[in-house]
Amino acid sequence: MLNGPISFSGRPTGIGRARLGRLETPHGGIDTPQFMPVGTQASVKSVTPADLHDIGAQVILGNTYHLSLRPGAERIARLGGLHRFMAWDGPILTDSGGFQVFSLANLRKVDEDGVTFASHIDGAPHRLTPETAVAIQEQLGSDIAMAFDQLVEPSLSPAAVADAMERTHRWAERSLSAHGRSEQALFGIVQGGVEPELRVRSVAAISELPFDGIAIGGLSVGETKAEMEGTLRVVAEALGEDSRPRYLMGVGSPLDFFVAVEHGIDLFDCVLPTRVARTGQLWTWEGRLNIRNSRFQDDPRPVDAECRCETCRTFSRAYLAHLFRAEELLAYRLATVHNLTYTLDLMRGIRAALADGSFASLRDTVQGRYGNAESRTKRPIRGR
Ligand SMILES: [Zn+2]
Repeated sequence: MLNGPISFSGRPTGIGRARLGRLETPHGGIDTPQFMPVGTQASVKSVTPADLHDIGAQVILGNTYHLSLRPGAERIARLGGLHRFMAWDGPILTDSGGFQVFSLANLRKVDEDGVTFASHIDGAPHRLTPETAVAIQEQLGSDIAMAFDQLVEPSLSPAAVADAMERTHRWAERSLSAHGRSEQALFGIVQGGVEPELRVRSVAAISELPFDGIAIGGLSVGETKAEMEGTLRVVAEALGEDSRPRYLMGVGSPLDFFVAVEHGIDLFDCVLPTRVARTGQLWTWEGRLNIRNSRFQDDPRPVDAECRCETCRTFSRAYLAHLFRAEELLAYRLATVHNLTYTLDLMRGIRAALADGSFASLRDTVQGRYGNAESRTKRPIRGR
């Protein structure tokens, strides 16, 4: 992509379809594969931008649906845009709101023009269309905006999934036509549920449009892990040598990263590491650790001796166990700082392993530490 708002160079690694790359945006560069912490409401819950820089975040996510309901995109625009409003000077990607309308809004009604829904905050009626979703993201001023799409449950009939996919393609063209902010990139979203033929058709329709990147949507919504991997394989084969960045929406557990990276994914986002942190589930190089377990109340060791984060450098497991039991607010920040550091260091480890050929060995190590527990963990709905 020359002369566009972003540039991306992703080179093949010889490991499946995995690529190593660098995405340049108006607010800085992003090494790929990369994980994007989720700051749905202009805040990565419980941490500051300074924390995010220490953690090593290179790009974060904001959300059209949430920010348009509260505090309002026009207000954020008047206050200088999302970067200034939340005091984050790095790259921001904004989701278009399609997922939240699907998962959070009550009484949603989809028609050809857009979606009418009741706000999850106060029940007031709202409407999103491809044009308004793009206009809101232009007001927010994110570096990367997403086209408006229609997500459906994978359990719907193939005809209903196909219907939503075709509408997503028409909305993709309308999103492109509506988009005018030249320093903002726009990514298209591939849909099609878990039907291979639909995914192939969706890749063909979306990839022929002049988007700056390609996102894979409609996963992490209740499908099995086998269905997710099968879909990623089909999409990767259909995309072939397409050189644009590829973003897998809403997926972010340690083992999912390895599967998706092997199928050519460059960008991830998920609420999982931050959400489970707030329940006391900590991700470590030794596997999961539930800090609420009584055995940690007398444990003077750090959460993870191998971790560089502020939490692990400063505090003991015993102290965190106490904070969670006492419901002290600091618990959320310390746990979030650790889980995001682990996640971003895991991505860094994956990049290093792609570069030096040790990817399979790293994958097997993480599989050994996370494999058994993960098979019992249902991936959550993304977005809050
Ligand atoms: Zn740590």
